[in-house]
Amino acid sequence: MTNIELKLPDWYDFELEPCNDVHDREEEAFDNQAKSYSGLIRKTPGCSTSACNALSQQLIHQMNVMLPNTLVSFDDLNVNLNKAAFPYLQAPAKAALAKAIQERGKTMTVNSGYRTIAQQLLLYNWGRGCGYHIVARPGSSNHQSGLALDINDHAGWRPYLKKYGWRWFGPNDKPHFDYVGAGAKDIRQATMKAFQQLWNNNNSNKKLIVDGQWGPKPERCLNESPSYGFKIAPWDEQPRLLRLSTPMMEGTDVFKVQKALQEQGFDLKPDGYFGKGTDAVVKRFQEKSGIEIDGIVGPNTCARLFASNT
Ligand SMILES: [Zn+2]
Repeated sequence: MTNIELKLPDWYDFELEPCNDVHDREEEAFDNQAKSYSGLIRKTPGCSTSACNALSQQLIHQMNVMLPNTLVSFDDLNVNLNKAAFPYLQAPAKAALAKAIQERGKTMTVNSGYRTIAQQLLLYNWGRGCGYHIVARPGSSNHQSGLALDINDHAGWRPYLKKYGWRWFGPNDKPHFDYVGAGAKDIRQATMKAFQQLWNNNNSNKKLIVDGQWGPKPERCLNESPSYGFKIAPWDEQPRLLRLSTPMMEGTDVFKVQKALQEQGFDLKPDGYFGKGTDAVVKRFQEKSGIEIDGIVGPNTCARLFASNT
């Protein structure tokens, strides 16, 4: 194993928050809030950030529309994902993680990965009322970087992760690792720009300047944003691949696919959530259509689904 000391890049000035506390509280609160809250961010009841899953998915996809492949899912690796964890990393961080996991040959349990600015604002709004004693301001947490992971068995994983550019935070935040290896980028401004753009697409009469800066005005707008997602979604502009995942994919695109499947005579009730039932129906549709049965709703499946619909 290598003995090189891993240094943080100069721009790495994220605010610290105790990841274990956030994780424990999230886990406790999750079951009551597996689906997105039907109101605004500022009114969202605590304490699980899964209450804004739909908006979070829009923010992640908007980011990838503006900067393709900035955030990639790592749920295809040998990992056990926590219910509330969004499994997204910057591509070089994922590649490094894949090597570490392969080398150790064990399943990694991940408690937290990417946290969107909407999730971060919820934590920030709730604060002590939910038992979150120290919360970084939206955009300032290292979990908005796509370079952070909280995992179990930090001691066992440490040498493997270190070898591939992942730096252990230390005893003050034991589950937390940061990727500081080749290709790590500061994407905080891009994260903010993605929100500003998404807001503008839906609020043509009260636009924000798309400058990537956080401040009172963007904070107010984010608080006035719907936890269940905006009407004009980034997948209206560029479709995303739909499939069974954790957290469940949800949104108008899922609803449209479910509706089309229902119209084809399949037995399902459109609700906008891509769960196990939808996955099973998609596979039956793929089988019937003679295309690959992978449960992924991409260009191929959509072409069959929507063409045969007209
Ligand atoms: Zn962390």
